[in-house]
This record gives sequence, C-alpha cells and structure tokens, in this order.
Amino acid sequence: MRKIAVVGLGLIGGSIALALKQNGVYVLGVDSDAQTLAYAKSGNMIDEAVGIDGLNGCEAVFVCVPLHLTRKMVEAVAAVTCGNAIITDVASVKGILKGVNARIVGGHPMAGTEKSGVTAAKSHLFENAFYAIVRYENTREEDIQYVTEIVKAMKAKPVFMTADEHDKRASKVSHLPHMLAYSLVNYSLTEDGFTGSGFMDTTRIAASGEQFWTNVARLNRDNIVSDLSGYIAELTSLKDELDNGDYEAFTARLRSAREKRETLAYNRVYLNEYTLDLDVKDEVGSILRVAEQFAQNGINISGIQIINSREGVGGALRISVSTEQDYNRAIDLLNLEDKR
Ligand code: NAP
Repeated sequence: MRKIAVVGLGLIGGSIALALKQNGVYVLGVDSDAQTLAYAKSGNMIDEAVGIDGLNGCEAVFVCVPLHLTRKMVEAVAAVTCGNAIITDVASVKGILKGVNARIVGGHPMAGTEKSGVTAAKSHLFENAFYAIVRYENTREEDIQYVTEIVKAMKAKPVFMTADEHDKRASKVSHLPHMLAYSLVNYSLTEDGFTGSGFMDTTRIAASGEQFWTNVARLNRDNIVSDLSGYIAELTSLKDELDNGDYEAFTARLRSAREKRETLAYNRVYLNEYTLDLDVKDEVGSILRVAEQFAQNGINISGIQIINSREGVGGALRISVSTEQDYNRAIDLLNLEDKR
C-alpha cells in the first residue's frame, strides 16, 4: 500500500488527504493543532497522526501549511526524509521555493473556497480544477511523473510551468481579481447594503481572509503591482472612451470581453464533456421534475449544480452525465442545444 504524508491538514491539506484515502493510499497526517489531528483521524481523513520525525517510509509528502511557512517546512521535511521521499507543496506563490535544498516538485491546485481549516476540507475539491505542476532546477523527471499521476487520480487537470510563469499567470487570474474584489467592496458598498447579483458575483472572493491575501501580495508583489498598473490603464481607456462619448470604441471593448468570456463559459474546466445547462423556473419541485424525467428515461445524473447567476450560462440548473449515450438522450429528451 502506498504511504503518503500530508503536513498541514487545513482546507487544502485535508482535501488532499481525503482524496488520497479515496484512492487507497495509507495517509499520515501532521499538524500543529492536536484538535485538527483528532478531527482528521475521527473523520477517516488520515490513517495515522505523526510528528514531522515520523515521516520516514513515506513515498511522498504534501506540504500544505500556510503560505509563509511553506519554505521552512519543505526544508524541515527534506532534513528528515533525506531524499527518500518526494516533497511537493501547494503554495499559491511558486517563486518562494526557488533554490530550495530538497527533492521538490512544486504544485498549486487552482481550487479553494473562501473558508479555511480542516472542517472546510472535501474530497472532491480538486475535481476538474487546474493543478499547476512546477519544475525547479533540481526537480527530477520521474518525480514530476509521480506527482502528475496523483493529481490525475484526484481528478484535477495537471498543467506544467516554471515558477516564474506560474507567478505571472496566477497574478492575472487569481491574485489581481482578489485585489479588485476587495477594492470594489471598499469603493462601492454602502452601509445599507444596497446591492445586486452582479455585485455579489463580482465580490464573492472578497470574503477571503485578509491575512492570507496580504501574504500572497507580499510574496508575489512585483507581478501584482505590474498587473495593477496594467489594469488601471485598461480602466483609464474605458473611462476615457465613455468620457469622450466614443461609444463605438466603448461598445467594441465590452463586446470583445463578452466574446472572450462566452468562449470560456462553455469550456470551463470544471465542466465535464457531457454537461447540460437547463433553464428551470425557481419554484417548488422544479429540480424533482427534471430528475424524474432523467430517471424515467434511464439516464444517470453524475453531477448536479444550481447556478445562482444565470449570466452567460442560459440556465439555472447544470447537470452532468457520464456517457455520450446519456448526453445524446438527454439532449433529445429536453430538446436542448448540443454545446460540446
Ligand atoms: P489552512 O486551511 O489555514 O490550513 C493550514 C493548516 O496548516 C492548518 O491546519 C494549520 O494549523 C496547519 N499548520 C500551521 N502551521 C503548521 C506547522 N508548523 N506544522 C504543521 N501544520 C501547521 O490553509 P489552506 O487554505 O489550506 O492553505 C494551505 C496552503 O494551500 C497555502 O500554501 C496556500 O497558499 C495554498 N492554497 C490555498 C488555496 C485556498 O483557496 N485556500 C488554494 C490553493 C492553494 P492551525 O489551524 O493550527 O494553524
């Protein structure tokens, strides 16, 4: 049986431990908090709670401690495993591990929630999410293969890049949006809470912990500052077009963004190949009626999601099926457009 350790059993570490257990791995758990370890053990998230000196005999160690502690922990794990275990981390910034003296494969699952801690962990957190795999100067090819296999077993989508590429790209699609969400709340929200669904959708991530995001901003500062400047320039162009009454340019700017976003909507990574968006009414029993139709026609629903915002999706219920045959039958049954 494979033996793998997870150090730091919070949202990400706990979710990795659960996903490993589902894949038949014997999981050792390390955490600084005894209550967290007890919770993980009683919830069958780990097989054994150990200290950092109990990691010998593991094939691999996932380091999932808070971002600012990652490098120190990787070094500490390297000191006890002496090159016998692959060490892989999950930190949101990858430049922090450059030059580290360890048998390292960098990793960053592009999944999470606004919540943290072991109680927020779930086995399917990484399903269909991108998972960046990062090679450092001393990373071994066979260790990349090993981590890639585990990432695939967790149903995530591995993508390979250098630490610098990762930090540039993560700044644009993850770090910058968090900065914007926080600023927008500060700028627009009034005491009476007057909002609409657009504001709520755009600012959901402003509910994330400010200490964590201060650490991300500190550790990826140059990229984020550069992207903030680029974004301010984009906003200034939009403002100038509006201010000058240049509606042709203004509309073209919005159109270009809408078209790009629409392409993304139907290639979203978390959709499997056989996913249908249904426009159901918000009324008692509407999900039950759809489910009954599927059941009566022998179509197995493998995933179901209620979409709070219908924007760009054209439906409030998203259903996934597992096979092409079921997909085609559902399309015929509900007279839907084939969007694959
Ligand atoms: P988290 O929920 O706060 O979990 C961190 C865990 O590490 C906690 O259980 C913490 O215990 C434990 N810990 C702290 N110091 C430790 C130590 N010295 N030894 C052992 N365990 C220790 O944080 P998270 O959100 O899972 O983030 C962990 C890593 O994942 C970070 O590097 C972050 O950049 C990365 N990441 C986060 C997300 C996200 O959305 N949250 C997404 C992708 C990647 P205590 O509770 O007692 O402090």
